[in-house]
Amino acid sequence: MLEEAKGVKTGRFAPSPTGRMHLGNVFTALVSWLSVRNAGGRWILRIEDLDPQRSRREYASLIEDDLHWLGLDWDEGGLSDNGPAAPYSQSLRSEFYAAALERLRGTGLTYPCTCRRADIMATQAPHQSDGRIIYAGTCRPSASPPFDVGAESCPHAVRLYVPDEVINFQDGVFGRQECNLADHCGDFVLRRADGAWAYQLAVVVDDAAMGVTEVVRGCDLLLSTAQQLYLYRLLGVPAPAYAHVPLLCNAAGQRLSKRDASMSMDELRKHYSPERLIGRLAFLAGLVADASPRSAESLIGSFEIRGIPAVSALTV
Ligand code: GLU
Ligand code: ZN
Repeated sequence: MLEEAKGVKTGRFAPSPTGRMHLGNVFTALVSWLSVRNAGGRWILRIEDLDPQRSRREYASLIEDDLHWLGLDWDEGGLSDNGPAAPYSQSLRSEFYAAALERLRGTGLTYPCTCRRADIMATQAPHQSDGRIIYAGTCRPSASPPFDVGAESCPHAVRLYVPDEVINFQDGVFGRQECNLADHCGDFVLRRADGAWAYQLAVVVDDAAMGVTEVVRGCDLLLSTAQQLYLYRLLGVPAPAYAHVPLLCNAAGQRLSKRDASMSMDELRKHYSPERLIGRLAFLAGLVADASPRSAESLIGSFEIRGIPAVSALTV
């Protein structure tokens, strides 16, 4: 952890610059920002551009512009790479992920996996209806860990063994959570065969290196938390606190996505003021009694994480 960050609540917003933000992304950013500002803490903007095919610098720039327009200011990070933990774009942080991978290799819990995506899909149990892919362990060495995987040849992913163990944590919104790593996650990828770093590894390395003490993000990542806590343990670094917020849905009950033009910041900025959007989101977050227009700053004093409903989706 960074010296100057000790004792200061540090939050972050970690968007993937794969499109314009939608109202759900703004909701997450607002809750994280308010939580930090209410505590006099630091807010970091980290650009999660691990996927080179889908990430664009223009989108990161638009995210910054939208945050400015909304009045959500950050203390560190963004495209200007301002701050002690620079760089703040994941595409520039490979050396940190490589170092963490080496440490994890040292635990004897990693192994090479040469399965192709199609093989993995073919071994899926039909009841994996939530879309999570649980690896069947095809390439896992037959002896128990620590593994002696020897020399690794040909392109392969690096996978991490998970024990049959329940991870517990307290979520700031959803309360006590229990997740069995083997049942819910399975052995997971740290580095893909094409060399791309996995989100799970990068997010842990970065949150730790940036001194993040509180992660606020969408509740689609609630289950990922157990994998991340397992990584913190193996890397021997303290984990942040987590609060997962509901995802926003349109009137038809569909989760907002970057493809919904009507809920994208591009469209919303043509029709509404920042105060109208913030006021509406603050009401959804249970922070205020009505949806009248408000600035982000005016909400700082009234922030209470307890107001946020523990539901997976809220209708805009
Ligand atoms: N980059 C992820 C997203 O855009 C967020 C990851 C996180 O907050 O841990 O959904
Ligand atoms: Zn495999």
